[in-house]
Amino acid sequence: MENLSIYIHIPFCVRKCLYCDFLSFPVCEEEDASEKKYLGKSYVNQITDKTAAQIDSYVNLIQKEITRTAPEYEKYRVISVFLGGGTPSLLPVGAVSGLIGSIRSRYRLAEDAEITVEMNPDTVTEEKLREYITCGINRLSIGLQSADDAELSRIGRIHDYGSFERVYETARRLGFGNINIDVMSALPDQRIADYERTLRRVTALSPEHISAYSLTLEENTPLYERREAFRFPTDEEEREMYALTGEYLASCGYHRYEISNYARDGYECRHNKVYWQRGNYVGFGLGASSMTENVRWTNPAHMGKYRDYVEEIGHSAGSGSGAVIRERETESFALQRLTAAEQMEEFMFLGLRMMGGVSGQAFRDAFGTGMEETYGGVIEKLCGQGVLMRDRDGVRLTKRGIDVSNYVMSQFLFD
Ligand code: SF4
Repeated sequence: MENLSIYIHIPFCVRKCLYCDFLSFPVCEEEDASEKKYLGKSYVNQITDKTAAQIDSYVNLIQKEITRTAPEYEKYRVISVFLGGGTPSLLPVGAVSGLIGSIRSRYRLAEDAEITVEMNPDTVTEEKLREYITCGINRLSIGLQSADDAELSRIGRIHDYGSFERVYETARRLGFGNINIDVMSALPDQRIADYERTLRRVTALSPEHISAYSLTLEENTPLYERREAFRFPTDEEEREMYALTGEYLASCGYHRYEISNYARDGYECRHNKVYWQRGNYVGFGLGASSMTENVRWTNPAHMGKYRDYVEEIGHSAGSGSGAVIRERETESFALQRLTAAEQMEEFMFLGLRMMGGVSGQAFRDAFGTGMEETYGGVIEKLCGQGVLMRDRDGVRLTKRGIDVSNYVMSQFLFD
């Protein structure tokens, strides 16, 4: 039986962080969001009835999508479920367990499946954490970003470090044994010593996993508009922060297994590895992407269109499934059948994100031809430049290659 991973997109946040260009919508009025209250009396209490109804209606839509498309995935065994966003922990009590329940009842969920929920500290209550445990969620991913309250405020996060710490401690007390913490470097006005302090405070808590990304200043975000008001780290400082992340986390017992991800032994994120290793995954919800058997598609990112799509699956139940609709609506689903060349490109540039690199045998198994026969010239050139290295069974990035990974990966694209 083949493996499948499931992603569920919850596109709601209390308010937009100033740097965010993800598919998510603010659900609290600005004046409400400025009244900060923490664990137990969170922003959830400030959601208006109208917004709560919109959230309920959206959760119902996903329930339908999960249920109605289930027959398409009968042959798969689900090895991971990831509720991401947006802010899944914003959902009212009962919603997350309802979604997991639908998956349990309609899909073959492996007994040891990794089930993760993303959380934003100020939207979490002890009641919700208890609900997560009861419904089988066994991994939490908490968006902290920085342990410095001034930095958090500059990037428009709704929480401070104290509220994060309370959530973390409550989760541990309740028995969660697999927690990821997201941190960010290259924040406005951040110095290397500030970032190091964040790393120190985070590692002192001993999470099992740390994701560490550099802030990308995206156009059309409020932070981009206000960029002149801040001093951003120079490229050199950014590189130093990146190097510091690897060295410091290694000294604390975390190994880097992907360009931006670090874990204690046995705690690499199974779900994300499916993306990098080109496994099968299906995304439910607004704008969610899927790829099974080298066919990729994306759900509509417009709420009305997404609703129409889910309702259409209902009408065609019995005579046609979501796959049939997607075939018909190729354009709105951005459905793409990947050619062999595209599959090879992805195999290389996604696989190289992993520190273990790309296996020559796996390449041969997937494509029936050798990696060296296909990419020999490129590999030779990149090894000569010191950014790629051959190992026993394939290639991987060197330390220098990690710094210029975008360049290295671009070399594996066919013209
Ligand atoms: S919590 Fe995450 S998804 Fe929501 S606005 Fe902030 S960065 Fe974006």
